[in-house]
Amino acid sequence: MAECGILYLVATPIGNLEDMTYRAVRILSEVDLIAAEDTRGSIRLLNHFEIRTPMTSYHEYNKVSKAKTLIETMLGGKNVACITDAGTPGISDPGEVLVQMALDHGIRVVPVPGACAAVNALICSGQGTRRFCFEAFLPAEKKERDLILEELKEETRTIVVYEAPHRILRTLELLAAALGGRSVTICRELTKKHEEIRRTTLPEAVRYYEENEPRGEFVLVVAGKDRRELIRERQDEIRGSLSLEEHMKQYLDQGLEKKEAMKAVAKDRGMTKREVYSQLLGESQELHSRMNRRFPE
Ligand code: SAM
Repeated sequence: MAECGILYLVATPIGNLEDMTYRAVRILSEVDLIAAEDTRGSIRLLNHFEIRTPMTSYHEYNKVSKAKTLIETMLGGKNVACITDAGTPGISDPGEVLVQMALDHGIRVVPVPGACAAVNALICSGQGTRRFCFEAFLPAEKKERDLILEELKEETRTIVVYEAPHRILRTLELLAAALGGRSVTICRELTKKHEEIRRTTLPEAVRYYEENEPRGEFVLVVAGKDRRELIRERQDEIRGSLSLEEHMKQYLDQGLEKKEAMKAVAKDRGMTKREVYSQLLGESQELHSRMNRRFPE
């Protein structure tokens, strides 16, 4: 039996041909077949680098049926490279299904790194890069989109969102309504002639694109929620919904010792243990004197 082929995931430039790597050119020249999202678009890239490998189309609408054919090809010993319109396969692009199927069949999957709009937007955004989440495109379906926007309200990581120019204003409006005046960096036409990095706030961005027609490709990088603000909001919520005694009772009912319960209550409410202790004492003394007033001994 022929040795199994390899699936290469080859990143291609997102606008600037100089971002093609030497390795990408070599792999694309050496494989038996290139599975491309947009064969007509990719032919320009391949011609530029004088790559003569045969191409077949692999896109959103044939991603399952075609993946099966490509798996057969690789099981037959041929090497296949997957490329997309631009950037890294699998990131908001077909590739995910093919990779899953390849791994299920014991086929080796090899990444060939290069450009990715999300990562490049993030690194030049001026937003926090240590922790981030990638939301791809917000869903078109309202119910699903509302659910995600609700989750994003409490997201403390930097949020990266892709969007098409004809929907960018609506998406900014939705983000502003959900997340308020957060900072956002709008990365437009990365690596291209009219590259633009605009750091502003969500409401300001809405105003800007109401007056200026959005053109080109966009990545939005939105600041995550301030952790301290989130903690403060949660503490306010607890203080508003539970008295100190009710709060203590909850922990005591769960089996915590009094000292431990006091510690947990103090943490939840943003207080010191001493403050909890003296307030509890105050509350019980107040209760005691109220009882005495109503039912004098
Ligand atoms: N796989 C690609 C990658 O690695 O970035 C992303 C493909 S996704 C279908 C296309 C989206 O990526 C665009 O709608 C835009 O949000 C973003 N994008 C792609 N190229 C870009 C560029 N040069 N500048 C800004 N955003 C870009």
